[in-house]
Amino acid sequence: MHYVCAKCHQEFSAGSEGEGELSCPRCKAQAGLEPVHGVPVAMKVFGMLLAAVVVLALGGGVVGRLMGLILMGLIPMG
Ligand SMILES: [Zn+2]
Repeated sequence: MHYVCAKCHQEFSAGSEGEGELSCPRCKAQAGLEPVHGVPVAMKVFGMLLAAVVVLALGGGVVGRLMGLILMGLIPMG
């Protein structure tokens, strides 16, 4: 289980609930520890980065081709 401290925003992993008192490893707070559900932030950032790279690669390819066509038209060959 992943938790985030509402006081100092420290993220940490802990065992299943009911396994003693949970406390923040940084500020030792026992209140305001919120379980984090779903995908960890690092994975989200990685996913967004991957999506951005794919979009840039696809977009860059199209733009590159267009630029190539434009330049071919503008620069007289021969
Ligand atoms: Zn804390």
